[in-house]
Amino acid sequence: MARSEEQRRVLEILRRLKQAYPDAQLALRYRSPFELLVALILAARCTDEKVNQVTAELFQRYRTPEDFVRARREELERAIYATGFYRQKAKTLKACCAALLERYHGEVPDCLDELLTLPGVGRKTANILLGNAFGKPAIGVDTHVLRLAQRLGLTRQNNPDKVEEDLDQLVPVQDRTRFCILMQAHGRAVCLARRPKCDQCVLADLCPYPDKTPARTGATARRRGATTLKFPVAPRSRGRS
Ligand code: SF4
Repeated sequence: MARSEEQRRVLEILRRLKQAYPDAQLALRYRSPFELLVALILAARCTDEKVNQVTAELFQRYRTPEDFVRARREELERAIYATGFYRQKAKTLKACCAALLERYHGEVPDCLDELLTLPGVGRKTANILLGNAFGKPAIGVDTHVLRLAQRLGLTRQNNPDKVEEDLDQLVPVQDRTRFCILMQAHGRAVCLARRPKCDQCVLADLCPYPDKTPARTGATARRRGATTLKFPVAPRSRGRS
């Protein structure tokens, strides 16, 4: 299939998700690039809801990189305990804030290469920061974006960096941040990790996922799962794996 056909399918996915989730936003709450950076570090292996609960108090006490660097380690660990892996996260926060002070005058840089030099910041975090805190569209591949991209046949990769490369080729630049937010919203509401609600999915006829959850009524499970695809899906190249 020509690349343009895949791109058309992505545009249709985007159109439908925009309609389904007109108010979708990043689930993490933040008021500045620095707060988003801290929230993203805390969000590792933790729900966004829990991070929001923790940061609501945390950001009252620790407002700047200096505050985190000066904080007693045990105190900081206690403050972020509920997000899990609190010892490692406290260490990472302190190292990241120290690097911000040493290299960037305490400001979060708005450039991918510079963000990637910070302890605790990988491509996912950097791209989410760029897209949401700085208005520079970018694909941040979190667990929802990865799962949905695979199920929707937009990638065959498992490595998030490779998935980002595939999505970069399919999603228009100006839509990249919104695309990820919409995929997250759909991943939370419908395309759940364990049992996607395929019978309620606005993308069902665009989705080639072979293990769709059967509808509760109607014909056999196999027949229910086999929605006719509106846009046939070409196998994607594994060339970059
Ligand atoms: S049809 Fe099912 S697997 Fe495909 S995107 Fe929708 S919920 Fe996910």
